Amino acid sequence: MNKRDFLKLLALVFVSSKASGRGGDDDKTIGNGRQRIVVIGAGLAGLVAAKELMGAGHHVIVLEARDRIGGRIWTSKKWPDVPLDMGATWIHGVSGNPISELADQLGARRLVTSYERAVTYTTDGQAFSEVEEAKLEAVRRRMFAALRKAQSADADTSIRQVVNLLEKNFASDPEALRFMSFCLSGNIEQEYAGSASRLSSYWYDSAEEFDGDDVLFAQGFSVITEYLAQDVDIRLSQVVNEIKWQDESAVSVRTTDNEFIADRVVVTLPLGVLQHNDVRFVPALPEEKRNAISKLGMGVLNKCYLRFEQAFWPEDMDWLEYVSAKHGEWTEWVSFQRAVNMPILLGFNAADRGRDIEAWSDEQIVASAMETLRTIFGADIPQPVDYQITRWASDSFTRGSYSYNALGSTPVMRDALASALNKQLFFAGEATDRDYFGTAHGAFLSGLRVSRDILSI
Ligand SMILES: Cc1cc2nc3c(=O)[nH]c(=O)nc-3n(C[C@H](O)[C@H](O)[C@H](O)COP(=O)(O)OP(=O)(O)OC[C@H]3O[C@@H](n4cnc5c(N)ncnc54)[C@H](O)[C@@H]3O)c2cc1C
Repeated sequence: MNKRDFLKLLALVFVSSKASGRGGDDDKTIGNGRQRIVVIGAGLAGLVAAKELMGAGHHVIVLEARDRIGGRIWTSKKWPDVPLDMGATWIHGVSGNPISELADQLGARRLVTSYERAVTYTTDGQAFSEVEEAKLEAVRRRMFAALRKAQSADADTSIRQVVNLLEKNFASDPEALRFMSFCLSGNIEQEYAGSASRLSSYWYDSAEEFDGDDVLFAQGFSVITEYLAQDVDIRLSQVVNEIKWQDESAVSVRTTDNEFIADRVVVTLPLGVLQHNDVRFVPALPEEKRNAISKLGMGVLNKCYLRFEQAFWPEDMDWLEYVSAKHGEWTEWVSFQRAVNMPILLGFNAADRGRDIEAWSDEQIVASAMETLRTIFGADIPQPVDYQITRWASDSFTRGSYSYNALGSTPVMRDALASALNKQLFFAGEATDRDYFGTAHGAFLSGLRVSRDILSI
């Protein structure tokens, strides 16, 4: 979709939100081309599709398994003075980003965090010297050069295979090997959420990006989903378990306690849910779509927020980075002190490590995080006063954080995942967006795409 088309559609979203009334069971007057549409999932993709289709006069019901809307956009209000995002936090690249446009319309306050405000710590907790900075940059350049070279090789390999070969050149330099592991974790696994041993070196970075700053919402990302949900008929706690399609007349969507009949159904189930076969399609989805579902990857990125009485780390920094002895352990931290004025640190665990720690208790996760912080800031730092921890891989309504291009997949598979079936089943959600998968804006654009497809029938 080019920018002009996108802006036209966005305008329609806003007009429609004012013009449409609330759909409901008592509204049986389907006629004049007005269709019954069921949207599965009240995440960003489902909400934007629902709003758009309602605005065009269709009868839309959104079925959501959870007892809340937003899906992977979820602002926790556990600490009333600081709403915190458990899922998406940032608008990545504000220029031309559809979420920015929406946030501008809402007047939502945003705060900039910057990778320029970053400090890196060695394994024994010392801030990097200039010499170490230079060496890290050299290692990083070597890693990306090797990956670029792998992209023109005859056959695809995993990122891990490429890095393993490169590491042979540094066999006698343990520090360089630690730097490599740090870059692999920080620049690749935390970004794409896939394990290096599963990420395709051909396609891991095939997504497009918007330019500009990364910003977070002062009131949390949910300002966007709450706005989109206004006036939409959303049925919460409706776990869809079967979709019967290909009948001439209608599609049947079964939840644990209801059946909904629709002319068209928008499926925004996360890739992880599709992979796990939690929802039965009758008849089964075509081979091409099943192939895409099984080959694309669903990654893991987990968050651990630690709240302290006061900051004991450099207050002018947004990012604290740590060259851990073991791959991927607490390599990336965000400080909320400067941007949000709160003594909160957010530690990430991604990919294999992110998946593994989900089996740990909260106490074990916090103890492990504190061990790293003590290495950096000293044994005397205080315990956190509270924490908030995510476990996205164990969440049965997403089964992972966001999708990535796994070895064995290609970007074309996202088009197969996105393709409509029989003009009845339409597929949206971040994983269906070839250009912006893995992001909130990708989910948003996919919702606009399906609504446009339905409206053009
Ligand atoms: C930890 C984390 C950090 C992230 N950080 C960022 C970031 O900073 N910036 C960014 O742009 N993106 C980020 N993302 C990605 C972004 O959150 C997602 O790409 C986007 O929110 C996905 O929206 P969606 O509508 O495709 O899916 P979802 O939001 O997952 O919506 C799908 C909905 O379907 C529902 N559902 C599932 N199963 C069923 C069922 N059987 N029946 C009925 N309903 C069902 C789910 O409950 C959910 O509400 C992050 C994600 C995570 C997890």
